[in-house]
Amino acid sequence: MNRTCRTALAAAVVSLAAAGLLQAQSKPSEDLAARAKRIHAEAIVLDTHIDTTQRLLQPDWSFFDRHEPNVRGQRGPGGRGNHVDYPRMREGGLDGLFFSIYMAGSITGPPAVKRSLEQIDAVRRLAETRPDAMVLATTAAEVRAAHKAGKIAALMGMEGGHMIDESLPVLRDYARLGVRYLTLTHSLNTTWGDSSGDKPAHNGLTDFGKDVVRELNRLGVMVDVSHVADKTFEDALATSRAPLLASHSSCRALTGHVRNMTDEMIKALAARGGVIQINYLNSYIDEPLRLAEEARQPQVDAIRKDMAAKYPGAENADKRMMETIAAVAALQPPLPVAQWQRIVDHIDHAVKIAGADHVGLGSDFDGASMPEGMEDVTRLPKITEELLRRGYTESQIKGILGENVLRLMERVEAVAREIHNEARPGR
Ligand SMILES: [Zn+2]
Repeated sequence: MNRTCRTALAAAVVSLAAAGLLQAQSKPSEDLAARAKRIHAEAIVLDTHIDTTQRLLQPDWSFFDRHEPNVRGQRGPGGRGNHVDYPRMREGGLDGLFFSIYMAGSITGPPAVKRSLEQIDAVRRLAETRPDAMVLATTAAEVRAAHKAGKIAALMGMEGGHMIDESLPVLRDYARLGVRYLTLTHSLNTTWGDSSGDKPAHNGLTDFGKDVVRELNRLGVMVDVSHVADKTFEDALATSRAPLLASHSSCRALTGHVRNMTDEMIKALAARGGVIQINYLNSYIDEPLRLAEEARQPQVDAIRKDMAAKYPGAENADKRMMETIAAVAALQPPLPVAQWQRIVDHIDHAVKIAGADHVGLGSDFDGASMPEGMEDVTRLPKITEELLRRGYTESQIKGILGENVLRLMERVEAVAREIHNEARPGR
C-alpha cells in the first residue's frame, strides 16, 4: 500500500469514525425514549394516593370507561380532575394504586365510620366485579402477583385519623377490610393529633395518638405522615417501630407549603427506612404559583363568603361550588402555570438529600389540580423519561416508580410479624 493509499484509507477511517460518532450523537434521544418505555413497562408502577374513590360512589360513572380530564379551572360533578380510570391507567402504565378513603375532617363520629365503610365497599366491589382486570391487594407480595398476572392492584389508604372515631376496634376492622395506611390527620386536628392545616392543640400526638401508631405497627398498616403537623411527625417517628410513609407530600425546601416536608424531616424519615411519595399538586411543587395563591387568598375568601350568602343551604351546594369556581377563575391577574417537570425537580431534591431508595410517587390525582403536562394518568411515562434524561439508573427509576414503597410495605409487614411473635404466649 503506497503513501497516497494509506492517507486515503486513514481519511476514510476518520470520516467513518466521524459518521459513527454523529450517529451515536443523534441516537441517544431515540434510545432514551425507547429505554424509558421499556423501563416503565417492566417496572411495577405504584401510586400511593389517588382520590378516584369518590367517583366510584356515583352510579353514573364507571371506572372501566374512558373519560376525559376536566378543563383547567373547572370542576365537573363529583370533584376535580377526572385524572384516572382503568383504560387510562393501562395507557399510562400505572400498575397499582392506593384508593384514598377520604372525607373532610369536619365529618366525625359514626357518620364518618359509615362513610368510610361505604368507600371501602366501593373499592372492594370494584375489584370483585372485574376479577379479570383488577385485584384487591393488601400485601407487597399480592401487588407483585397482580403485576405478574397482568392485573391492576387496588389498595386502600385512609386519609385521616378522624375516621376511626377514637376507636382502636374500628381501626382494626378497617385493617381487616384491607386498609393499608392511615394518614394520622387530614387538614384539621383530630382529637388526638395535630394537623399541618390547623392550630396546634396537642403538641403533636396525645397518648392515645401514640397508641394508634403502635396499633398500626401491630396490624402491619403503614403510618402515613402526609398532612400532619411537624411535631406530630416527630412524635410518630419516635413512637413507630416500623418505618413511616409520607403518602403524598413534596419538598418544602423547593415550595414553602406546610403540606410539604422539610429537608430535616425527609432525612429523618429516610434514615429510619421510610419513603416520601412526591405529590404532583401544582401549588405544592411550584413556588411562584404558591406565592400567587397565597397573595390572592383574601379575595378567594371574600368570594366564598359572597356565594355562601347568595346560595345558602345544602340544596344549593352544586350551584354555589360552580359559581365560586367560575368567580375564582376570573380573578386577575391570572395565576402562573406550573409545569410537570417540577414534579421531577421535587423527586430529584428528595433523592439528593435522602437517597434514591426513599422516594416514590403519590400523585393526588382526582384530589388536586395538576401541573401543565400532567393532565391525567396517561402522562405518567414522561416522569420515567425525564428521570432517565437526568441520569438516573434503571434500578433507581424502578425504585422510585414502585419498588421503594413495596420494600417499605414488606418491612411494615415484617415488623407486624415480629410484634405478633413476641406477644405469643410461652415465648
Ligand atoms: Zn391529601
